[in-house]
Amino acid sequence: MKVLVNNTIESRENVAIDIEDRGYQFGDGVYEVVRVYEGEVYELDGHVERFFRSAQEIDITLSYTVNELKENIKALIAENNVVDGGIYFQVTRGVSPRKHSYDRTLASHLIAYPLYFTRPKEKQLSGVTAITVDDLRWLRCDIKSLNLLYNVMMKQKAQDNKAFEGIFVRDDVITEGTSTNVFIVKDGVYKTHPASNMILNGITRQRILSLLSENNFTVEEVKFTKAELLAADEVFITSTTSEVMPIIEIDNQIIGQGQVGDKTKQIYNLLINYIG
Ligand code: PMP
Repeated sequence: MKVLVNNTIESRENVAIDIEDRGYQFGDGVYEVVRVYEGEVYELDGHVERFFRSAQEIDITLSYTVNELKENIKALIAENNVVDGGIYFQVTRGVSPRKHSYDRTLASHLIAYPLYFTRPKEKQLSGVTAITVDDLRWLRCDIKSLNLLYNVMMKQKAQDNKAFEGIFVRDDVITEGTSTNVFIVKDGVYKTHPASNMILNGITRQRILSLLSENNFTVEEVKFTKAELLAADEVFITSTTSEVMPIIEIDNQIIGQGQVGDKTKQIYNLLINYIG
């Protein structure tokens, strides 16, 4: 496997991570996952721009431009012959003796490498289940931080309950999933939590909002409660890897008709057509 390390592509065997990399001690860094379909990178601009924003928000300086990183990611895809899957990339603040505060002159450390996976078609056709969980995360969920501990714990709780996703509830409001954004449909209106510090503004979420508007569907970026979630006609979650994933049961309660709804199918088809 070929790996991008800062500005250079190297063989995985030749890449070593320092034990004092702050990513290990503090989760001090940010990341992205970008999708590759049939060898072509998808929504690279949105992911790289969000990556630069996340890094800036936590005061990490990157040693390449947006365009250089995009070119390096494309080269990495070619070098690894990625057909279906994605690229994971992360940057940490760098290496230093362990202490919480940091020195702004540290050299940030980027790694990027391929992930291999395919579209979860069967689940998208059948729909999946979810559970609700308390949203006990920090209040900067807009930053795609490496600190995923609580998300990891709640995804595991979902899996232990044979559910696909854990849906976060904060002050009775549905924010997002552990690794997805959440949409409901009620009386023909699509709704999702507004972009704020309470959620990660998903690239898929943003694409879906555009596709819905362009196709004259009614869509609102508004807060909705857990009761509204459970009483929705349809629920689906979105992400780079899940695309549009229908949710047909939450907390053992059937959603709508208990099957993939028409409005979910419509936006699923619009997204798949857009991806091409
Ligand atoms: N929310 C969270 C917490 C996530 O981790 C993700 C996946 N990275 C998303 C939403 C969906 O974002 P995207 O559509 O950019 O993959």
